[in-house]
Amino acid sequence: MSDSEFESKTRPRLVIHVPHASTVMPEGHRAQFGISDEALETEIHQSADLHTDLLARQAWPQAEIVEARVSRVLLDVERYADDALEQMARVGRGVIYTHDCSGGSLQRTVSSKDRGQLLDTFYHPHWKKLRADASDAVLIDLHTYPEKAWPIEPRIDAARPEIDLGTSAGITPIEWTAGLWAHFERHGFTVEENTPYSGVIDAGAKHAVMIEIRRDVLGSGPGSPEWHRLVSALATLPLPG
Ligand SMILES: [Zn+2]
Repeated sequence: MSDSEFESKTRPRLVIHVPHASTVMPEGHRAQFGISDEALETEIHQSADLHTDLLARQAWPQAEIVEARVSRVLLDVERYADDALEQMARVGRGVIYTHDCSGGSLQRTVSSKDRGQLLDTFYHPHWKKLRADASDAVLIDLHTYPEKAWPIEPRIDAARPEIDLGTSAGITPIEWTAGLWAHFERHGFTVEENTPYSGVIDAGAKHAVMIEIRRDVLGSGPGSPEWHRLVSALATLPLPG
């Protein structure tokens, strides 16, 4: 067996979770929101981690990418389905949003029947696929976040580095975190761990980390010099064995 064959057999399977790139609001669900088309469109774009889908495909063409099908403003797959467990539900940003990123009302009414239907359509199938794909794989949960904190954030005064590594004990090996930290610093980025957002989702992966990229790091987006620099840093990041 050649070295390359050996490597390909031992390299961990990589899954990238992209929960917040979508700006899709299916027509049938628009009526739940009382705000104007313009206000809804603004909120969808401000809340979205724009281009993280393309970023994932360009950085890791070999990976399985699991993406949310709809805007987080309709349903956020990166939340607990039970509001009692979800701290963001307190500010109207649980799995079903009632408030925008500035704390304003979306004038949204969702009956418990509608809620169940949304979960059955967009949440449970997403998690079923994510859990199946993540099983025994390495998972990267990919996000971007605003330079200036939203009023609804739980830790408004926390440090906002260019790269925030979200880690959880038992899921993210300490050596991997150290390797990622050093890697991004070598590429010239400021790095912190678990600030301003902490932890990584538990989808049953062997190892997992959340990568939160501050939005100004993307420059003017796909194709910009900043974009290429970021893609090359992501493409070469170390993975745990
Ligand atoms: Zn996000």
